[in-house]
Amino acid sequence: MKIIMLGAPGAGKGTQAKMIAEKYSIPHISTGDIFRANIKEGTDLGKKAKEYMDKGLLVPDELVVDLVVDRLTWDDTKNGYVLDGFPRTIPQAEALTKALAARGEKVDFAINIDIPDENIIERMGGRRACVTCGATYHIVNIPPKKEGVCDKCGSELILRDDDKPETVRKRLDVYHEQTQPLIDYYTKEGVLKDVDGTVDMMDVFGAIVQILGE
Ligand code: ADP
Ligand code: ADP
Ligand code: ZN
Repeated sequence: MKIIMLGAPGAGKGTQAKMIAEKYSIPHISTGDIFRANIKEGTDLGKKAKEYMDKGLLVPDELVVDLVVDRLTWDDTKNGYVLDGFPRTIPQAEALTKALAARGEKVDFAINIDIPDENIIERMGGRRACVTCGATYHIVNIPPKKEGVCDKCGSELILRDDDKPETVRKRLDVYHEQTQPLIDYYTKEGVLKDVDGTVDMMDVFGAIVQILGE
């Protein structure tokens, strides 16, 4: 099962992708997580990506596409995957379609988590991410058991630099301009599925399971 997650920053893509990966035993591949790991390790890719991420801009396509296409050849992708944060532009979607077609494959589901911009600012300000394992929480909606500490691994939780309100607004503009057109793209491919992202996270997941099958 090859799934991509669409939706604005903060829509809940990562939260849902982690649950999908667990239920269907497929890897969760997040380009944002890959970039943040590279930034932490101080790699060249990390240094380049950070310049864009800090400004709320997308990392250029040429730094993303080969990385993802290569990742999709790993052994763990044999039964599919859930891609979170890729594609984010039409050229990325076209590159993905082409790379998959070369192997006689295609995306099975493009899950679009629908949520108005007003809800996003609130969500992002309350998002806390684990510095070690990438788990995400929300200080009000999905709090960790102990404040500031990851339930899964015990590490510290932080507010991401790019989750500050000014940067979130920029990311939303970028989303509407560059990523939203993918909704049309995948509608035309016949694989788009909309889910309401404003409801409780388990209800969003329930709607997704309805689409993917038990
Ligand atoms: P969110 O889902 O909250 O927007 P992500 O973790 O997916 O956050 O992405 C964080 C940042 O990483 C993005 O704002 C962008 O700068 C960069 N990024 C992640 N994926 C891509 C991609 N496919 N193309 C370009 N930039 C990306
Ligand atoms: P994305 O990957 O699309 O940027 P996340 O999954 O990181 O989004 O979610 C953004 C923030 O909103 C996080 O703090 C997360 O805990 C919280 N969140 C996710 N889903 C819901 C939901 N259904 N209701 C309320 N808050 C949510
Ligand atoms: Zn953790």
